[in-house]
Amino acid sequence: MAIATRDPATGIVERTFAPMSDEEVERALADAAGAVVALRRTTFADRAAWMRAAADLLEADAPTLAATMTREMGKTLASAEAEVRKAAHGCRYYAEHAAAMLAPEPADAPAVGAAAAYSVYQPLGVVLAVMPWNYPVWQVLRFAAPALMAGNAGLLKHASNVPQTALYLGELFTRAGFPAGAFGTLLIGSAQVERVLRDERVAAATLTGSEAAGRSVARIAGDVLKKTVLELGGSDPYLVLPSADVARAAATAVRARCQNNGQSCIAAKRFIVHAEVYDEFVAAFTEGMAALRVGDPADPDTDVGPVATEQGRAELAELVADAVAKGATVLTGGEAPAGPGWFYPPTVLADVDATMRLYREETFGPVAVVYRVADLAEALELANGTAFGLGAVVWTTDEAERVRCVAELESGAVTVNGMTTSYPELPFGGIKTSGYGRELAAVGIREFCNLKAVWVG
Ligand code: NAP
Repeated sequence: MAIATRDPATGIVERTFAPMSDEEVERALADAAGAVVALRRTTFADRAAWMRAAADLLEADAPTLAATMTREMGKTLASAEAEVRKAAHGCRYYAEHAAAMLAPEPADAPAVGAAAAYSVYQPLGVVLAVMPWNYPVWQVLRFAAPALMAGNAGLLKHASNVPQTALYLGELFTRAGFPAGAFGTLLIGSAQVERVLRDERVAAATLTGSEAAGRSVARIAGDVLKKTVLELGGSDPYLVLPSADVARAAATAVRARCQNNGQSCIAAKRFIVHAEVYDEFVAAFTEGMAALRVGDPADPDTDVGPVATEQGRAELAELVADAVAKGATVLTGGEAPAGPGWFYPPTVLADVDATMRLYREETFGPVAVVYRVADLAEALELANGTAFGLGAVVWTTDEAERVRCVAELESGAVTVNGMTTSYPELPFGGIKTSGYGRELAAVGIREFCNLKAVWVG
C-alpha cells in the first residue's frame, strides 16, 4: 500500500510520502539505540515529567490532530478528539504509576541462602511497534507510554494510510523532553518490517493489526528469538439473556457495534440473543442501527463516517453479499451507497449459518449478525465457536449466569451489562488467534522488561 493520506469521505489522495531510504532507517535505528543508553541515566521522575508534558501537548494539539485523524481514516471528529484525550490520560496514568509498578520485588532471602534476594525490572531496549490505523493515536500511546516510562525506546511503523498522524507521533516525545531518538517514526511499508525486526539493535516487537500481519511478525521474531506482543482481530460475542434490561442492552449494542465506524477490534460483532427476548431486542437494535446518521465525519451531526479504505469497504460488502446469496435476511442496510467516499450503512443480518463467511470471519465495519438461541449453554457454545478470543459481553442480572459466563467465555475480557472498552487501569489483550501478551495496567508495562533476579551472598 502506498504511504499516503487519502480522505475516505471523498476518495481523494491528498498527500503522498516516499518511504524512508535504507540510510534513513539506519539513522533511526542508531538514534533509538543511542536513546536507550541516554534513558538509562534518567530517573522515573525525569520520565514522568516528560510523559506529563507529552499529555499536555496532546491536549493542546487535540483539535488539529483530530482533524488530521479524521482526514486520514474517517472517524468522526468528536471521536478523534475523545481518542486524543484518552491517550493523554494514558500518558498521565503511567507517569503516575510506573515507578510503583516496576519497584524491586523482595524475595525470601533465607530460603535461598542469601543475605539479600530480590528482583528488578529493567528495560529491554529498542521495541519496534507495528500499528494499525483504526485508533491511530490511542493504539500507539498505549504502547509508547508504558514502554518509555520503563526506559525502553520505541520505533513506530504505523499503517501506511495514516502518515501525517505517524509523523506527529514521531516528534511528540522529543518535543516533550525525552532524549532524541527515544521514540521515532519509520515511514516504511510493511515489506521493510523484516529488516528492522532482524536488526540486532531491536530487542522486541509489538504488533496490533490483522492475523496475517501478526503471523508474519511472530514468525520472523521467532527466527531471531525476540519477544513479541500481538493484539490481533476479534469477532466478539454479545449475549443477551432473559433477565437483561433489554432496552439498555439494545441501545448499548448499537454503540458497541458502530463505534469508530464499526472498525474496532473489540466491537461487538455477533449478537447472541435468548429466544425469550429475541424479538424485543432485535426490533430495538435494528431500529437503533437504522436511525444512525451516516455521512461526513467532520459534521458534528454524523454518527457513522466512511470505512477507512476502499479495500476495507469492498471486503465488507463481499461478506454481506456472500451471506445474502446463501439465505441470510437483511433487517436493515446491506447496500453500499453510490457516490464518492467509502460509506457503508449500519447493517443487521439474521438467519446466518455456518455456510456463510461472516459466520467465521471478522466484519470490520458497521455490520451486525443476530442469532437466536434456546438457552445459555447454546449461547456459550456459539460465543466460543470462533477462532478469535478478544472480548465478550453478557447482559444478565442473574448472578449464577454471570459467574458461569465469566468462567466459560473464551476471551481476554468479559464485560457484564456494558460494552467492551479499554482502560489504562485494566489489562487488555486476547487469546486464541486474537493474539497473546497484554497491554495496559501493570502487566502491560512489564511485558517489555527484563525481570532480573538478584542474589547477594
Ligand atoms: P493490518 O493490515 O495487519 O495492518 C496493521 C499494521 O501492520 C500496519 O502498520 C501494516 O502496515 C502492518 N502490516 C501489514 N502486513 C504486515 C506484514 N506482513 N508484516 C509486517 N507488518 C505488516 O491490519 P488492518 O487490516 O489494516 O487492521 C485491522 C485489523 O487489526 C483487524 O483485524 C482488527 O481487529 C485488528 N486490530 C486489533 C486490535 C487489538 O488491540 N487486538 C486493535 C485494532 C485493530 P501497512 O499499512 O503498511 O500495510
